[in-house]
This record gives sequence, C-alpha cells and structure tokens, in this order.
Amino acid sequence: MTITETTTETSYADLEQAHTSGVYSKRPLTIVRGAGATLYDEAGRAYLDCGAGIGVANIGHCHPAVVAAITAQAATLTICQEAFHNDQRALLQAELAAVLPAGMERIFLCNSGTEAVEAAIKFARLATGRPGIIAAMRGFHGRTFGALSATWEAHYREPFAPLVPEFSHIPYNNLARLESAITPATAAVLLEVVQGEGGVRPGEAEFLRGAQRLCRERGILLILDEVQTGFGRTGKMFACEHFALEPDLLCLAKALGGGLPMGAVGIGRRIGELSVGSHGSTFGGNPLACAAARTSLQVLQDEHLAEQAAEKGAWLLARLRAIRSPRIREVRGLGLMIGIELKEKVAPYLQTLQNEHGIIALNAGTTVLRLLPPLVIGWDELERLALALEAGLG
Ligand SMILES: *Cc1c(COP(=O)(O)O)cnc(C)c1O
Repeated sequence: MTITETTTETSYADLEQAHTSGVYSKRPLTIVRGAGATLYDEAGRAYLDCGAGIGVANIGHCHPAVVAAITAQAATLTICQEAFHNDQRALLQAELAAVLPAGMERIFLCNSGTEAVEAAIKFARLATGRPGIIAAMRGFHGRTFGALSATWEAHYREPFAPLVPEFSHIPYNNLARLESAITPATAAVLLEVVQGEGGVRPGEAEFLRGAQRLCRERGILLILDEVQTGFGRTGKMFACEHFALEPDLLCLAKALGGGLPMGAVGIGRRIGELSVGSHGSTFGGNPLACAAARTSLQVLQDEHLAEQAAEKGAWLLARLRAIRSPRIREVRGLGLMIGIELKEKVAPYLQTLQNEHGIIALNAGTTVLRLLPPLVIGWDELERLALALEAGLG
C-alpha cells in the first residue's frame, strides 16, 4: 500500500495523532495551503490567519516574490557550508547590516530562534570571559538548554533541571531589581523588547533605556531577543528602534526567512573578534534560506510593512480597548503584536473564533489571546477580526 492510498483512507489528523511526538497540543484542523493572510484547510475552507505561523508570515503566506526566489534558488544551489563564500549569503549579510542598528556590521546565521539565543549567550561569554546572564521573569527565549535557562516559565524549565548555571531572573520593567542583580560575574542582560510568549507585555522606555545605560556603565553586554518583535511586527523594522536602543547582540528568527527556517545574531561593536571554530552551524547561512530572507526583507521595505503594522496595529488596539467587557482584564500591544488578557481561560474563545468566524488566533499562556497577523492583512480583514472579537468578548 502506498502512502497516497493510506491518506485517502485515513485522515491526516489521524495519521499525525498516530505518529507525532506528543509534545504539541493540536487543534482538530488540517491546514494545507496559504496565501497572504489566508489559510485553507483540506476541505478548502478559508481562515483569516491572525497567528502567522507564530509571527513568521509577516509578509503573508507564499508571497509571490519569495516563491519565485525560492524556486530559482532551489534550482541553483541550496547548500554551501560557511567554509566557502556564497553570493546569496554575502548579499543577505550586507542587506541585513544596512537595516540593523548602527554599528552592527557582523551577522551570525543559524536556523531558528533558540539557536540565535544560544549563539548570543556563547558570544557574550566569549567576549566578556564571564558566565552570568540576567534575564526577565515571564521572558521566553527558546527551548534548548542555554535559551531554556534564560526562559522563565517553570513548566518549560523544571522537567529538565539542572539547567545551565549562572542565569538569574529579575521582574521585567523593574530597573532597580536589574541593577541589584548585577554582579562581577555578569556577562550580559538578555531581554525581549515586548515579551511575547509571556503575555504580550511591552517594555517601558525607562526600563529598556535604563538597562542599556546600566550595561554600558558596568561594562556588560545588552542582548535583545527580537525573534518575535523583529521585521516590522511592532511598527518599526526592529522594536529596539522605538527606544533608540543599540544592543550589543540582537537575536532574530521567525519572520527573518520569509517562511523558511532561519535565525541570525547581529553582532555590535563592543563584541571583539570571535575566534575561528568557537561556534558554527551546518545549515546556517544556506543559500536557499538566504535567498528567501533577502526577498522577504525587500518586500518588507517595498510594501512599507513596518509603517502598515504601526497604522493597522494602532487602529486595532483602539478598537479592542473600546470593548467594554467584564471578561477583559487588559488590552496591550505594539504595532501588530497585540494581547487581550482575559480574566478566564482563553482556549474556548480561540475555538469559537476558529469554528464560528473562521479566524485563527493564538494564546500566550492560558489567559492571553494573542494576535500576530501577517502585516499585509487587509483593512476589510481587520474589520472582520474586530467585529468577531467584539461579538465574542463584548
Ligand atoms: C519563538 C521565540 C524564540 C524561539 O524561537 P524558535 O525558532 O522556536 O526556536 C525565542 N525568543 C523569542 C522571543 C521567541 O518569540
């Protein structure tokens, strides 16, 4: 029996349930196609995607320019180890450097957000010769051991103890606590600009600017994790631009690859030369992902998607803040990264949005409804989303 025969008899959902690892909680929906801000299930039903593959599809699903770039590059060269130079990698690094904060001329390429954070932690230890990393409560940085050690939430961490030593956590937006956590062993402070998984909690200017000032004064490094906030999501190309921050290391992934797996670390001036062999990745900087990322960056700029995210996000935030409901605790956000904190569990609302309104949204923790729509979402689609949320929550 061939696979095709199997799948005609058994649903894809059943097949996955039989063979998936079990580490994901799954919704009973099989997505097979996407275009712009729309996803389609196997029966052809359309869904407005307000999750974007968890903040990946900023330029929309299957953007024609990215499809063309990937198709051409797939027929040219998909893999080229970093021992050699490559045209697509060279151009991507130059094009990224042109949009990164001032002085960030060097870029390490990898394949995911957690890898970007791992690299930044290693670079910080290498550059300072010190082990300590201060991260924030409610922070999320990934699930490999270094990144996991910086991640706050107990259910991600506790089953895997002991984690990497010398990590500590301070309350987010609390500068006094950050200052008192600094020790002679501190290498770096690692923060999100808007905490994503932790409930869509924007950083305050005073805290973020103050953290940068403290880092400079004490000779420690500032690592910003913009894996979720990068590439237009918050209304600027990078969220650190809202506060004129110049991090020493900037972690990127999610939307970077235009839908393909890719991560990167921007490396600032205060990081000295990194020694040959100190870090690396087989797939990092592969020409296929680089071609996709170059095109995605071009689309973000050509279509002014950061500006669009600012405008659309402000509109949606105002609309959602106007909902008078005893069920809503707070509406927070920056650009098209929006969280609605409920006084109850969010799962039933996500199900209603999906089943009754054909809208896919995300959670952040158990009580926050998180919206990360593609930045290309149309005004008519935003209106549909606002109406559905007003009906569901109002
Ligand atoms: C998603 C995320 C990560 C981890 O990225 P993966 O690609 O899933 O490893 C790290 N940091 C932040 C802020 C994220 O949102």
